Parts: sequence; C-alpha cells; structure tokens
Amino acid sequence: MKISSIFESKTHTFSFEFFPPKDEIAAVDFGVNVGQLMKLAPDFVSVTYGAGGSNRERNFTLVDYLQNKTGLTVMAHYTCTGASKREALDDIARLKSLNIENLMLLRGDPPKGMSGFAPHPDGFGHASELIEAVRAKFGNVFAVGAGCYPEKHPEAPDPATDILRLKDKIDAGTDFLITQLFFDNEVYFNFVGRLRDAGISCRVIPGIIPVASRSQIERFSKLSGTRIPESLTDKIASAGNDAKRVARIGTEFAIEQCRSLMNGGVPGIHFYTLNKSGATVEIFETLRKPANSQNL
Ligand SMILES: Cc1cc2nc3c(=O)[nH]c(=O)nc-3n(C[C@H](O)[C@H](O)[C@H](O)COP(=O)(O)OP(=O)(O)OC[C@H]3O[C@@H](n4cnc5c(N)ncnc54)[C@H](O)[C@@H]3O)c2cc1C
Repeated sequence: MKISSIFESKTHTFSFEFFPPKDEIAAVDFGVNVGQLMKLAPDFVSVTYGAGGSNRERNFTLVDYLQNKTGLTVMAHYTCTGASKREALDDIARLKSLNIENLMLLRGDPPKGMSGFAPHPDGFGHASELIEAVRAKFGNVFAVGAGCYPEKHPEAPDPATDILRLKDKIDAGTDFLITQLFFDNEVYFNFVGRLRDAGISCRVIPGIIPVASRSQIERFSKLSGTRIPESLTDKIASAGNDAKRVARIGTEFAIEQCRSLMNGGVPGIHFYTLNKSGATVEIFETLRKPANSQNL
C-alpha cells in the first residue's frame, strides 16, 4: 500500500527503520528482532541503502523479502550517490518490479573514506533532481518521502537556505518528510513552524532513536550535528560504564520524548531501530497503556 493512501485514513503513523544485515549471524538476529517488531503492526517499515550503493544487492533482497513475504508495507531508501542518472532510474524500475510502492529518495553521504560529496559525472547532484526524475519517469507509481534536518543539514550554509532547498524537494514531488534524529522536541516544533511559513504543508514525521550506548550517541551526534540536551548527557555520564543503565536511561528518555511529541500533535513517529527490538517494543507498550491510549 502507498503511504500516501495510509495517510488518507490515519492521522498518524508509526514506522520502523532497518538496515540490511551484514552476515548470516546478523541475519538471524534481524529475523528475531523484526519478528518482535511485527507484533506491533507498524504502518510501514523502511530499509536503508548503504552509502554509495555499498549494500545494493542486500538492500534489494531484503526489501523484496519484506514486501513480498511478510505482509509489511515497505519503504525502500535509495541514494543516488555513485550512480549515473540512468543507473539510478534503472534501480528504481527494479524496485517497482519488486512491488515496492514507497521510496525514501536521498542524495546520500559520500562513501566511506571520501570527505566531501561529489556527484557521479552523469549523476544527480541533489535529492530534488532525483525526485523530479523519478516523478517524470514513473508518475504517481510511488509515494515519495524525503529527508529533512531540524538542526540544518551539516553542509547547508544556514537554516533558511536549507529550508529553501527542502522546498525544491517538495516542489519536485515529495509526499512527506521524515526528520533526521533529534533529542530536543522544541527544535522539531520550531522547525515545522518554519516549514509551514515557507509553504511546506506535508507531514513531517519525527525520526526518533532510543539511545542504546554512550558510543552510539556520540557517533550519531558527530555525524548528524544533532545537539544532545544536557539533561540526557548528564544522566548518561552518571551511569559511568554501566551499559545496561545507559540503555535504560536512553529508553526512558525516548518514552518521554515520544509522549511529549504526541501530546504536541505530531503525525506519527518513525523509529530508527538499528535492527533491535527491545527499546522500541518497550516504548510502544508504555505509550499504549490506557492513560496514553488516545495517542497510539
Ligand atoms: C530520514 C532519513 C533517511 C536517510 N536514509 C539514508 C540511507 O538510507 N542511506 C544513506 O546513505 N543516507 C541516508 N540518510 C542520510 C542522507 O543521505 C544524508 O543526510 C545526505 O548528506 C543528504 O541527503 P539528502 O537527500 O537530504 O540531500 P539533499 O536534499 O540533496 O541535500 C544535501 C545538501 O545539499 C543542499 N542542497 C540541496 N539542493 C541544493 C541545490 N540545488 N543547490 C545547493 N545546495 C543544495 C542541502 O541544503 C543540503 O545541505 C538519511 C537521512 C534522513 C533524514
């Protein structure tokens, strides 16, 4: 089912993001965790695409399996880094042949070892160009999502310019946006206010990550430029080297973050699960308890 059709009957959606497992052991672990998450009946799940197409075949195999064997509604991420325009559109045609109806279309980060982004000589320079070309070739076959950055994309010179470029993606045919992870809800609500002022009216689904470890939060914040509130860093610091306590703090923070987002009227939540089910299942079970049942 197209995500845009789901929006017609649901005021909010919840969804999970996965990445293709790297080897056989990871694949077994993935199956166990996806099994747990399927019980929560997500509106859709998404599968990331490796930088520069590094996991292209594993990505297509996984989206094929999830879409055609599990009954889940799948959104395939696709990044145009490293592909010519023709290769990119051929890949999209292949996703169509796998019955994929939902795409998250992205430019992508530079492949490992490369510092700045450099487009393929015959490729798309920005996500908006990819989105425009997919719409031109495939019309409305797909519901199209794009990424957005409440704290500004790291390469953008300033937030206002980033929003102008985001508007290009909307005008090119984006149906909905999913945010980069963030921890401060004010940042999200201010951002959405600025998008509305700029004439962007589509759903802006917050992307949330339950922090699982100290190294993970440091890595993500460094990569995405996301600010981590002191309330969270202080608590994590107080846990010292107690990994279980750090994960508990991360889950409790995510529960409160999601509760406050839902109370603020967000159109759903997209969970960056990192292929683990424990924290996400706990967050859902907590938020679905009767006192919160109006939210889920
Ligand atoms: C929800 C979500 C899912 C993601 N999934 C993946 C994934 O599966 N695989 C992966 O590798 N990465 C993924 N990413 C990361 C993403 O690939 C990077 O953030 C990448 O650096 C930017 O991709 P984009 O599509 O947002 O790029 P763009 O929208 O092209 O923007 C990139 C930069 O270029 C600027 N820009 C855009 N258009 C123009 C223009 N015409 N002129 C000048 N500047 C311009 C923007 O302001 C921004 O600074 C995801 C990010 C998000 C938010």
